[in-house]
Amino acid sequence: MDVAIAGGGIGGLTAAIALRRAGVEAHVYEAAEAWRPIGAGIMMPPNAMQVFASLELADRVRAAGLAVRRMELRSVGSGILQTMEGEFLERRYGHRPVFLRRSALHEVLWRSLPKEALHLGHALREVREGEALFSNGASVRARLIIGADGLSSTVRKQLFPEARLRYSGVTSFRGLATARLPEGTASAGECLGGETRFGWAAVDPETIYWFAPFLSPAGVDHRSSADRIADRYAKFPAFVQAMLKATPPETWLQTDLFDLVPPRTWVRGTVALLGDAAHATTPNLGQGGAQAIEDAAALAHRVEQFGLTERALMQYQEARQTKARWITIGSWRFGRIAHLRNPLLCLARDRMLQWAPRWVERRQLDRMFRPEI
Ligand SMILES: Cc1cc2nc3c(=O)[nH]c(=O)nc-3n(C[C@H](O)[C@H](O)[C@H](O)COP(=O)(O)OP(=O)(O)OC[C@H]3O[C@@H](n4cnc5c(N)ncnc54)[C@H](O)[C@@H]3O)c2cc1C
Repeated sequence: MDVAIAGGGIGGLTAAIALRRAGVEAHVYEAAEAWRPIGAGIMMPPNAMQVFASLELADRVRAAGLAVRRMELRSVGSGILQTMEGEFLERRYGHRPVFLRRSALHEVLWRSLPKEALHLGHALREVREGEALFSNGASVRARLIIGADGLSSTVRKQLFPEARLRYSGVTSFRGLATARLPEGTASAGECLGGETRFGWAAVDPETIYWFAPFLSPAGVDHRSSADRIADRYAKFPAFVQAMLKATPPETWLQTDLFDLVPPRTWVRGTVALLGDAAHATTPNLGQGGAQAIEDAAALAHRVEQFGLTERALMQYQEARQTKARWITIGSWRFGRIAHLRNPLLCLARDRMLQWAPRWVERRQLDRMFRPEI
């Protein structure tokens, strides 16, 4: 076959779609035995939506969620720090960010591929030059092999054992609340509160996706004390407590937030990493999945240009590495300032965010929301 992709997440599925549109026979090998509902919600920012538009998927993604009306950033101490209108983003970048259930996004993606291209229950065990071997005893030969197997990538561990995950000091709960936002509240936003933060976004008229990151050592399971998590948000706007109450505690998900210290290379011979496997980032900018989607488009373009060759993989890395690294570093820094605890530093941060000149903000947005593919 032409391309074997290990991992049927956002990156692997989008890569298979993009490659197949370019006339390449790409197959996805996913460890899970079935497509199960996973995660809570996710934002697809304008850069991801632009790639989806080029793959004729943007309408389906939009129909599966809600496009943003207004986004805001607040802090407990200073109130509103920044706002952004969906209409402005649409004018400037062609698309509004879309929030949707993560399972709905996956469904749009896997349904866009022919059944024979999807191989469930295939956990990649090892890659050799030109061959992928799976834990179920199967193996396939392919001209290119793509490791899109996520944060704990088996392909990366085998080929780039020096790559190191880095804990951010923050764990996060996520959930889907059957609730509505109070009149006048932005449809998506985030409130900073020192040790804790809270983010929300409507994914349909009756459902709010929320995330609640807070400082914690790695590996501490807070799920048994989920009922006490609400105490950490006592100073937050009242709707935060309402969201938490409207979500059955047994459905809350907890994830320790890691990133990958950006590795120097993602390519070895005819094998390349893609998405989180190559450049996992903390989720503070809502860009991890979007970067995987940009990777997918860049890979397909390079394969169209240079064929199923090592050169195509090197050119793909060349096209993507700078932006992916910029996102990882920027997201890490935002995480740092978002969880400042010293009240004076919090105030200085809030003023900086409130008074940041528009052109600085726009320059950052332009870089983030325009795909580099
Ligand atoms: C709390 C949180 C919130 C986030 N919010 C956003 C957001 O709003 N917007 C955004 O763009 N990004 C967001 N992200 C980041 C986003 O989830 C990831 O960047 C994205 O899922 C990466 O896609 P991927 O395909 O590279 O990896 P994954 O989605 O992790 O997919 C990897 C796939 O590989 C499979 N797999 C693993 N090992 C093997 C193996 N050995 N063989 C075969 N298959 C294997 C896994 O089962 C999985 O299906 C968030 C992340 C977190 C933690």
